[in-house]
Amino acid sequence: MAAGMEFVPHVIDGAEVASAAGATFDSVDPWTRAPWAQVALGGAVEAGRAVAAARRAFDEGPWPRMGHGERGALLHRLADLIGEHAEELALADTTDMGKPISDARGKDVPRAAQNFRFFADHARLSVADALPMDSGHHAYTRYEPAGVVAAIAPWNFPLMLETWKVAPALAWGNTVVLKPAEDTPASAAVLARLAVQAGFPPGVLNVVHGYGPDSAGAALTGDPRVDRITFTGESATGRAISAAAAANLTPVSLELGGKGANLVFDDADLATAVDWSIKAIFTNAGQVCLAGSRLYVQRGVYGEFCDRFVAAAEAMTLGDPKDPATQVGPLASETHYKKVRSYLEGIEGTVLTGGLGEGWAVRPTVVADAPPDARICREEVFGPLVTVAPFGTEEQGVALANDTPYGLNAMLFTENLSRAHRVAAALRAGTVWANCFFIRDLRAPFGGVGASGVGREGGNFSREFFTEPKAVVMAIDGQSR
Ligand code: NAD
Repeated sequence: MAAGMEFVPHVIDGAEVASAAGATFDSVDPWTRAPWAQVALGGAVEAGRAVAAARRAFDEGPWPRMGHGERGALLHRLADLIGEHAEELALADTTDMGKPISDARGKDVPRAAQNFRFFADHARLSVADALPMDSGHHAYTRYEPAGVVAAIAPWNFPLMLETWKVAPALAWGNTVVLKPAEDTPASAAVLARLAVQAGFPPGVLNVVHGYGPDSAGAALTGDPRVDRITFTGESATGRAISAAAAANLTPVSLELGGKGANLVFDDADLATAVDWSIKAIFTNAGQVCLAGSRLYVQRGVYGEFCDRFVAAAEAMTLGDPKDPATQVGPLASETHYKKVRSYLEGIEGTVLTGGLGEGWAVRPTVVADAPPDARICREEVFGPLVTVAPFGTEEQGVALANDTPYGLNAMLFTENLSRAHRVAAALRAGTVWANCFFIRDLRAPFGGVGASGVGREGGNFSREFFTEPKAVVMAIDGQSR
C-alpha cells in the first residue's frame, strides 16, 4: 500500500478483514483529486460471507431475542461512541466526497447518532394493536424481526443515510449487511468497528465494500438468504434492484432520485424564501435528493426575488471542504463532475450566475428562461444548478411543480395560511415543506411518489418494513362462536 494511505477494511462477523484475493480500490479525495485510502474490494465471495454471518447472528444469536430495553441500551451506546468519534467520522465523509466539514460535523454526524437514539426509543415505546372481537376472541399484533437486511447506500450523505437504514433495522431485531457507495466507504467501516466496540454480537452489523453491478451490490440484492432490501440511490438503479428482489420475492424499500419544485408566491416573506431556497439547492453542492432544483416564482415578485437570490448565491464561500468557512465544496468524484459539466456545456437558457469552478467544483449556478423540456428542467442534475421561471396563478404554479416524473418533495413559500394548506394538498410529493426546508421529524413518513421511490420509512413506517407483523387470535372463554 502506498505510504500515507489509509486502509478501509470490510467488517464481517465482528472482524475487520481484507478481501479474499487481497483486491482493493482507491478512494479519491475530490478536493486534492488524489487517492487517500485503499479500500477492500468485495465481490460475491465477501457479500456471501457477510450474509452468512448476518444469517447466523439472526438464526442463532442473541440479537433478535433480546428485549427492546437491552438492545436499545446497545444502540444508545453506539450513539455515544459516534459522538466520541465525531471528528473521525466527519473527516471520513469530507475526505471521501468533499462535503463541507462544517456540515459533516454540525449536521450529518449528530443526525447519525440521533438516528440510533430515536429508533431505539421508538421500538421500545411502540404500542402494538389489541383488537377485541365481537365473537368472544381478541386479536393482537406482534412485530417480529424480518431477518437479514441488505442496506445499499448512496454517496451524498454517507453516514447519515446509512444510519437511517441501519438504526431501524437493528432496533427491530434484524441483522444487517451494509454496502456503502464505492465513493464513500470510510465512515461505514468506522461505524461497524464502533458497533463491535459497543458490544454488538458478531454478525449483527456487517459492512462490505464494492461496486453495484457484477459486484458486492448485485450479489447482496440477489441473495435469497436476504429478507429485506433497503436501497437509496438513483431511480435507474432502483429499477435494477427491484427486478433482482422480485426474483426472490424479497420486499424492497426504494428511496430514489428527485427534482424538487420550489414555489415562491407573491405574498411570501422574501427574506425567508431566499434563505431557504439557497439552502435547498446549494447545500452539499446540490448533491441532495431533496434539492429544490426547479424554482418557480410568482410574477409579482419574480424580478426582486431573482436579484436577491443571485446575490445570495454569489455570496457563498467555495473552496477546500476541510475549511470550516467553506459552504460549497467540490463535486464528489470525477465521474460525477463530468456528468454535471455536461449539463452546463449544453445549457439552454440564460445563465444569471455560476459556471465551472476550480478542480471538480461547480459554482452556484442559476439559469433563467430554460425551455420546460430542457434536460436541466427534466433530469436530476445532482449539482449546484437551479432553473428559475415565473408563474401566474396558484393553479399554474401547482401544475408546473407537478409536471415531473419525480415526486420526492416540494417547497412553498407564502404568508397565506389557507394557500399553504391548499397547495400542500395539491402537490404530488412525499414531503412538502411550507416556509422551510429539510426540517425532519423522524416519526413522519419519508419517501417518494412516482420515479422517486417505493414505500416509506420513518417511525411506524420503518417498523412496518423491517418487521413481519403477525396477527395472534385468542379465544377468551374457550368457546368458538
Ligand atoms: P447509485 O444508484 O449510483 O448507487 C447507490 C448504491 O447502489 C451504491 O452503493 C452502488 O454501489 C449501488 N448499486 C449500483 N448498482 C447496483 C446494482 N445493480 N445492484 C446493487 N447495488 C447497486 O446512486 P448514487 O449516485 O450513489 O446516489 C445518488 C442518487 O441517490 C441520486 O439519484 C439521489 O437523488 C439519490 N438519493 C435519494 C435519496 C432519497 O432519500 N430518496 C437520498 C439520497 C440520494
